[in-house]
Amino acid sequence: MDEQEYAEYRRNRVRRLKKIIPVTIFIAILIPLLCSIIFLSLFIHTKRELNDLQTRYDELLSSMEQLRDDIDYIDETKDVYTVSDVTDSKRESTEESASTDEVIPDTEEDVTDVREVYLTFDDGPSSNTGEILDILAKYDVKATFFVTGKTDEVSVAAYKRIVDEGHTLGMHSYSHRYSQVYASKESFIEDLTRLQEYLYEVTGVWSRYYRFPGGSSNTASTVDMKELIEYLSEQDITYFDWNIVSGDASGNILSADRIYENCVSNLPEYSEAVILMHDAAEKHTTVEALPRIIEAVQAMDDTRLMAINDDTFPIQHRE
Ligand SMILES: [Zn+2]
Repeated sequence: MDEQEYAEYRRNRVRRLKKIIPVTIFIAILIPLLCSIIFLSLFIHTKRELNDLQTRYDELLSSMEQLRDDIDYIDETKDVYTVSDVTDSKRESTEESASTDEVIPDTEEDVTDVREVYLTFDDGPSSNTGEILDILAKYDVKATFFVTGKTDEVSVAAYKRIVDEGHTLGMHSYSHRYSQVYASKESFIEDLTRLQEYLYEVTGVWSRYYRFPGGSSNTASTVDMKELIEYLSEQDITYFDWNIVSGDASGNILSADRIYENCVSNLPEYSEAVILMHDAAEKHTTVEALPRIIEAVQAMDDTRLMAINDDTFPIQHRE
């Protein structure tokens, strides 16, 4: 290779290098850029999937809660009917003994000459509370609300209205979840205290009346009900069951006529009647039946509608 050829060779090499360098730089930028784009899209995709999963998880949780409520509700319905059967059989046996021996007086009738009727509404506040309160106000009747713990604005206003309009504010557990309320004595106390303090905070009333979810004779509690009853009495809280069921706890919505019949037909047998009704959104037939029930009771001789107070004899399925 002579000098001229060598110079030519070097020029060619420099020219080639000049071409290679920009291509290399271009590739060096392009590859990481492509990688970043791929990773970014992968990241976005995974994030979207995670969000979907989170949504599905939330949905599952809420349907589980709904299911738990349904189970509690079924438990309560079942309990109500068990108790109703017991009451019926008691009544029958009283009737039998009365017919065999006519001198046995109906002691309940002899205690007072004025029949006291207590309308009690469980499970509220609900979207029906306002209407129930309007009806009670229209007929100038006081009733008792065994409420659960709800923190939304409408419920808070309902608690206040119950108190302001002279009704009795009773407690029916904060959560109304049998599995929670009756899991242990400690969880019962925690639930009760939470509701009592919450109601005090909202209304200034320290409630001293309680209705057990499912009644004191419920079969859902894993704790001996005697222990819970004892605790209530230590806290100076009186619990109330019922001796007349409106039947509105049933899973099927009863007609207003049936509810009216259930409430009114057995009334004459009691000198003190505590009627179990429900203040729940889906129980609108209860609201429909209410004016007629009040009118029927007000038309009865020596009968008055009252709110539970310290002088009320507590109807209890378990003592
Ligand atoms: Zn209830």
